Amino acid sequence: MLRVGLSGGIGSGKSTVAGRLAEHGAIVIDADRLAREVVEPGSQGLREIEEAFGSEVLDESGALNRAALAAKVFSDDQARAALNGITHPKIGARTAELIAAAPEDAIVVHDVPLLVEGGLAPMYHLVVIVHAEVEQRVERLKGRGLDEQDARSRMAKQADDGQRRRVADVWLDNSGTPDRVLAEVDALWADRLVPYEANVRLRRYASGAPKLVPYDPTWPEQAARIAKRIEAAGGQRRVEHIGSTSVPGLSAKDVLDFQLGVASLDEADEIAEALTQAGFPLIGPGEDSVKYGDPEGWKKRLHAGADPKRRVNLHVRVEDGPAWDWAIRFRDWLRADDGARREYEAVKLELSERHAADVDGFAYGDAKEPWMSAAVERMAAFYKDGQTS
Ligand code: ADP
Repeated sequence: MLRVGLSGGIGSGKSTVAGRLAEHGAIVIDADRLAREVVEPGSQGLREIEEAFGSEVLDESGALNRAALAAKVFSDDQARAALNGITHPKIGARTAELIAAAPEDAIVVHDVPLLVEGGLAPMYHLVVIVHAEVEQRVERLKGRGLDEQDARSRMAKQADDGQRRRVADVWLDNSGTPDRVLAEVDALWADRLVPYEANVRLRRYASGAPKLVPYDPTWPEQAARIAKRIEAAGGQRRVEHIGSTSVPGLSAKDVLDFQLGVASLDEADEIAEALTQAGFPLIGPGEDSVKYGDPEGWKKRLHAGADPKRRVNLHVRVEDGPAWDWAIRFRDWLRADDGARREYEAVKLELSERHAADVDGFAYGDAKEPWMSAAVERMAAFYKDGQTS
């Protein structure tokens, strides 16, 4: 099962996008609709609201009077917390029920207007944000019969574009005609969601040989987003962006490398399934090339990303062990030493050309080793701590 979070400001086009994904076969869970369902006439939720806020929050027919309730909780934090205490667990339980009922190979799209505000982004395999400019959204909402002032005041309370960009794996621009965004949705479905779902279910990582590309200035923000996802799946342990993509200015294969810190490899084995389910299947036990000291210290567990459009290597290493430290020291040295960085880049360019036919990248990786090993001495000199064993 693939869990996709869908969000965007009101009037951005979320429902339009969700509708198209449903036509393709996605199971759409509409958070707004569930929020209404849990307070329907006759519901447990509505009874609890009446108990907490009195019968004046109901209309003559016994249904919730939203305006009356809104007036009570608007400037009263405690009342709002009480209301959320009634509705949120019920919405959560209903969401979990719908997800549990979905088939094993489902692509579940969770349409959540307040995904960003609620800090929910790391819980999904992929976050899709629909975007349109404020003025355009106001016009479209007026077309749908919404009051302009109401629309604007709701927008002002929502997350801004910067916050949304930070969580977006996919940014769908809906400032053009509906056809334009729908064509993007079709491509997203076929090229990314379908193969991503299959990879997660079959515990496959995205494969293929990425080429060396110039440094991409969006790598750090992409890494920050994916690190949060790894943290959430890995029990909030430490996650570091390492490897060539973590060194500004360095050409690299477009594969983001991370290390996740564990207290022991037993602990790594305990969280392997959770990482696999979150879209980072286990490739197997692995051993980093031993740079010095006890070979045991260089053992790890290697996972990789299942998203076909975002390659990730995830090294689960003993936190503060030699392999963990080496990755950080190597990164920080290359960040600080322009000469070393240029030299490493030249080596990478030369080797990637020589091993262009190497699909798995193993021969290329092995060929880099002598330079990496020689780097141990140079790093010891750089850090002036003589750490080579
Ligand atoms: P949301 O669910 O994000 O609030 P909707 O999908 O309901 O947004 O879109 C808001 C309104 O704008 C709807 O009336 C919808 O039909 C219309 N709309 C959506 N996309 C476009 C577009 N590209 N051009 C014009 N109108 C659009």
